[in-house]
Amino acid sequence: MAYKALYREYRPRRFSDLRGQGMISEILKNQVKAQEPSHAYIFIGPRGTGKTSTAKILAMALNCLHPKDGEPCLECENCQEALADSMIDIIEIDAASNNSVENARDIRDKINLLPVKGKYKIYIIDEVHMLSDSAYNALLKTIEEPPSYAVFVLATTELNKLPKTILSRCQRFDFKNIDEGAIVGRMQEVLASIGKTADEDALAKIAEYSDGGMRDALTVLEKCTIIKDNIDMETVLGVLNYADDSSVRQLLSAVRDYDGKTALDTLQRILDAGIEPSVLVEQMMGTLQKVIRASVGALGGGYAEIAKGWDRASLTKTMEKIADTDCRMRLSTKPAILLESAIMDLMLPEAQGDEALALRIAKLEKQIALGTTAARPATPPRMSVDTPPEKSVPKAAAQKKAGAGKDTAGLLEGLKNAMAKNLLYGDIVNALEISSLSGNKITFTSENKTAQLMLEDEKFIGVLRNAIEKQTGEAPVIEVEKTSESLGDIDVEIID
Ligand SMILES: [Zn+2]
Repeated sequence: MAYKALYREYRPRRFSDLRGQGMISEILKNQVKAQEPSHAYIFIGPRGTGKTSTAKILAMALNCLHPKDGEPCLECENCQEALADSMIDIIEIDAASNNSVENARDIRDKINLLPVKGKYKIYIIDEVHMLSDSAYNALLKTIEEPPSYAVFVLATTELNKLPKTILSRCQRFDFKNIDEGAIVGRMQEVLASIGKTADEDALAKIAEYSDGGMRDALTVLEKCTIIKDNIDMETVLGVLNYADDSSVRQLLSAVRDYDGKTALDTLQRILDAGIEPSVLVEQMMGTLQKVIRASVGALGGGYAEIAKGWDRASLTKTMEKIADTDCRMRLSTKPAILLESAIMDLMLPEAQGDEALALRIAKLEKQIALGTTAARPATPPRMSVDTPPEKSVPKAAAQKKAGAGKDTAGLLEGLKNAMAKNLLYGDIVNALEISSLSGNKITFTSENKTAQLMLEDEKFIGVLRNAIEKQTGEAPVIEVEKTSESLGDIDVEIID
């Protein structure tokens, strides 16, 4: 049997399988029962909360040959095909990769063809906010006057990016984060069906991490089941790739002490160990929350130790800053840089707000305690991190001019400059070579093992492509020349 990820294997197949979305499945089931579906739905909500699963169940139920009480039978030909994702009248489109006006026109043209096997022709458009404006307009016309057999199910995580004209034509369902109890319950069912077990606190930790997303929870669970038959807390922490507590405390203590060097060194060390910036920020917030509780005497131990030397204003400010960074990181393609500059910002209380004076005094006191200012009492305290590195980076515009040339050296040089401050990929880019350049086709190679591996990583190639496009103004086609040391042969693999 072909391998299927747990979250696919255990994807809900009936409305009654859906967890944590209250009335949504009831309403949809009743619409199926009455054979009165809306012509356009919009499912809005965070990732992993069941939007796509619900859309698939709705589509299957509408085209089921023997629906029972609004539920699909799962047995008939149409249900079987729908379960295998091969039902001809259910058309799934990922707007993230099909966002052009041609795709939307294609829908408009083909919608007039009658459904082949079922009663309805159902279009499920995922990540619909990714459609281009012209694609929206083409789609809008279709949704305005659809044939009676057409049903559109649009799904998105980003309500704000949707045009009102689309929203106003759809029946809207808001999907909420699934509560932790429901996620734990589902994980227990899945474990039981594959003959494995887990400690309660371990499952609670996974549920807490997944933040209301069933898919994330099942993905983590799956990794744990590969390692152990009984999943315990240690397994979960290992799989989640959390930084160890002592490093996080060290980082926060350094922030408290305005000790820029230790803060940045610790941050670098944690990120170098492969911890995701987003995970680290979550951990920092969790720890800060405990430090704040310790500062009012509600908690003891190591947290009280960190709280002891931390004045309330600066502690609160740190929490706000880190929480704000967490939000901004979600929208950024360079979360590590954001985190680094947030930490540096916290070292610069002079530059911020009304409470600046009090914070500045606190900072001076800390620096005197550390001995950083003792040698130069006449000059204002300066630390190596006082100047954010952004200022020393050449302006993007200047880089564009310098590296815009089509010559290999200029392109590579510009690329390395642009990526120099990237904590994640800077070193990798530095190890790259361009083996050929023709038109917008660029072939990369490297002697470096890590760089060779990274060249197989789609995400990295994406970052590379963006950086080059910024520089040259056109999207490149990236190829990778693989060098196989043992055989000495070279083959070229087309990625784009
Ligand atoms: Zn059926």
